[in-house]
Amino acid sequence: MMDSAHSTAGAWLPLFIDVAEQPVLVVGGGVEARRKVDRLLRHGARVELLGAVRDADLAAHVEHGRVLGIDALERRDYRLIIVAERDTEAAAQAHAWAARHRIVVNAVDDPERCSALMPAIVDRAPITIAIGSAGTAPELARMIRSRIEALLPAWTGTLARLADVYKPLMRKRYPEPARRRRFLNWLFTGAPAQSLAAGRPGDAEAAVVDALNKDTDDGPGSVALVGAGPGDPELLTVRALRMIQQADVIIHDALVDRRVLEYARRDVELIDAGKRGGRCSTPQLVIHNLLLDHARQGKRVVRLKGGDPMVFGRGGEELEFLRAHSIEYSVVPGITAAAGCAAYAGIPLTHRDHAQSVHLVTAHGQQSIDRLDWRALARERQTLAFYMAVSRIDTVQAKLLRHGRDPDTPVALVENGARGEQRVLTATLARLSELARHYQVRSPAMLYVGEVAQLANTLSWWGQSPLSLDTRADAESSFEPQKQAVHG
Ligand code: SAH
Repeated sequence: MMDSAHSTAGAWLPLFIDVAEQPVLVVGGGVEARRKVDRLLRHGARVELLGAVRDADLAAHVEHGRVLGIDALERRDYRLIIVAERDTEAAAQAHAWAARHRIVVNAVDDPERCSALMPAIVDRAPITIAIGSAGTAPELARMIRSRIEALLPAWTGTLARLADVYKPLMRKRYPEPARRRRFLNWLFTGAPAQSLAAGRPGDAEAAVVDALNKDTDDGPGSVALVGAGPGDPELLTVRALRMIQQADVIIHDALVDRRVLEYARRDVELIDAGKRGGRCSTPQLVIHNLLLDHARQGKRVVRLKGGDPMVFGRGGEELEFLRAHSIEYSVVPGITAAAGCAAYAGIPLTHRDHAQSVHLVTAHGQQSIDRLDWRALARERQTLAFYMAVSRIDTVQAKLLRHGRDPDTPVALVENGARGEQRVLTATLARLSELARHYQVRSPAMLYVGEVAQLANTLSWWGQSPLSLDTRADAESSFEPQKQAVHG
């Protein structure tokens, strides 16, 4: 397989060739030839065409003089020859010509005869990403291209041009390369990038001009409050992923899945500000100061939180603090546990027949328990999604019953939702405490109260089937037949 230097990936040197005003030969007359011709014309090449023309657009190109049709090969100075058909007289001639005059040749779908390969391209001009597979798997290269395209927003090119326009000013303002690099980092990920993302190119440019005119030499650092979702890294948003990959520092919660952190750069500084119900945690004030210190050093700080940063995540307090200290910030929403765990347990949070509203409630601490309007929470036909409820399950049950919620109301506990070890437990409100004790539910878990909770029993699709007090499949017995589970 690896008999020639060509077939090893190492033989191919990636290169971008300037074809503007250069003679390039295309051989063929069909769709494939037309595609190559169109591409070459876009890059300003002088295209000559050898072969019987069948494609109408190609014929038009020749007719209107955009492409020169030729019958015989005479030039030796082609920068490149592209053979876009196989097994024709013209193709054979072109290959012989290329070999004789040592001209670089690309043969479509015929890697054996290529001395140059056409990569799959992500076009964010002037940024261009070429993906090659050394001729082995062009399909895979195209798949990789789609993934990169999803990661690189359409405005990436605009950002590159913006940096280019202000390059001279930037050189003057920051003669020292390291300092200039920091500025560029900010330009590519901070306020200018965010303005472009929001469709405001004017603001992007203004931010650059502003920063260049400022007389402090402090790097403009920034903080992104990023939601990591409930577990499964596939539930990150594309933007969250980008922020994590770009971060200089990541300050994360205990709830953030390890696998999410693996997306970070190798040299990222990871700070665990883990707080997990009761266990040792970093005081909020210390977190605030960490954010401030790192941002002031010109770093891109990601404050990474489980779920969504604005739902029971103290995101609001952190933003207020950053605003008070004039630190630039942005927020990337994540899938909050109430939504993520419900989806992975097969519980629709609303349902035309069962629930018209959803309440996101925290049962953390006596204070929040006391302040809740239990009478309103005990009404029918609504879904309650309790966060941080594990240690307060008895209280929640007692309060809801006392305020008139039907003891037969379905409930569900989802422990480690959207993760491999997810457990879903179902019962009625009357037996909620018993359920939690029986299965020794641990944090993190969501508690759902409402008619929709029972749908987990029929709609569950992820991991093990739901357990209930009547399920005889206890920890001891693993022989109980389980519903066919679908793993993602
Ligand atoms: N900002 C987070 C919530 C933080 S509060 C969000 O939007 O999801 C922490 C509580 O979230 C936990 O006590 C638990 O009730 C819930 N939680 C978070 N991730 C969870 C998961 N994977 N499974 C079950 N509950 C989870």
